[in-house]
Amino acid sequence: MRRIGVFTSGGDAPGMNAAIRAVVRQAYALGIEVIGIRRGYAGMILGEMVPLGVRDVANILQRGGTILLTARSQDFLTPEGRAKAAKKLLEAGIEGLVAIGGDGTFRGAMRLIEEHRIPVVGVPGTIDNDLYGTDYTIGFDTAVNTALEAIDRIRDTAASHERVFFIEVMGRNAGFIALDVGLAGGAEVIAVPEEPVDPEAIAEGLLESQRRGKTSSIVVVAEGAYPGGAAGLLAAIQEHVAVEARVTVLGHIQRGGSPTAKDRILASRLGAAAVEALAAGTSGVMVGEVEGEVELTPLKEAVERRKDINRSLLSLSRVLAL
Ligand code: ADP
Repeated sequence: MRRIGVFTSGGDAPGMNAAIRAVVRQAYALGIEVIGIRRGYAGMILGEMVPLGVRDVANILQRGGTILLTARSQDFLTPEGRAKAAKKLLEAGIEGLVAIGGDGTFRGAMRLIEEHRIPVVGVPGTIDNDLYGTDYTIGFDTAVNTALEAIDRIRDTAASHERVFFIEVMGRNAGFIALDVGLAGGAEVIAVPEEPVDPEAIAEGLLESQRRGKTSSIVVVAEGAYPGGAAGLLAAIQEHVAVEARVTVLGHIQRGGSPTAKDRILASRLGAAAVEALAAGTSGVMVGEVEGEVELTPLKEAVERRKDINRSLLSLSRVLAL
């Protein structure tokens, strides 16, 4: 393989730049040229490509976001759009791709492989941690730490004003961020999509903790845990009891910022592993880290199999939230 392309797609995640840097430099070590494709599949269709040399990726390791930009593309959902993208890749002499993104990105990659025989290796880049075949995705650790810092601040004001706060964190249909942030932030309640959420039971729990002398509480709600998120859950609870509470949606602050050491190391390792896999003739897999080792998982499994949250941590959070 002489020339490969790299792109970031879907939601951005801290550490994507570290992954791009690793792809470029590992490829250089193997004598492979790298072309950066801008704006994900949207840019691929338009042929937005830039050669990436080893110096072009200097000083990006510590930066959040993605220097290649990211986008969502409606056109790529159609066979015609994908044919246009394949043609641009062929014209640029690109013989394989490293796709950095989440499950949507990998579904697109699977189509590209099936329909146009272009080898693709995926790198899990999403704050949601919702991909099977890797213990953690790139960006998750940073997002958890960012959300945790916000929760610690809210805790100060909750304690001073003796208030209940409902804090909504990201994660789409997964509760990984909520669970880690909730446990590390000492939340009284953690609502995740993986477990049934019972507004009445939560209401009862909050009243009970007040009876035990607690004057402030933090309820961490994963965005997908309840219809309408944290606000929806609070409204449902208020149908049962008159709980006064404030709602804070952390939103996009969770996606930005400089990646943590953990995310930089994971991104470096997986970016390099993706190039090695491509160079060895592998395609249709995601590189991940499982129990400290790099593992390859078919893209289909990575997106279709459900990775479960650590339920013992959820039970522990309940014991500790007295
Ligand atoms: P993420 O990769 O973060 O999950 P998205 O779900 O937005 O992000 O997916 C990124 C892009 O991947 C979409 O805008 C679309 O162009 C492409 N994509 C997603 N699902 C498919 C699919 N089933 N077939 C083809 N392309 C897809």
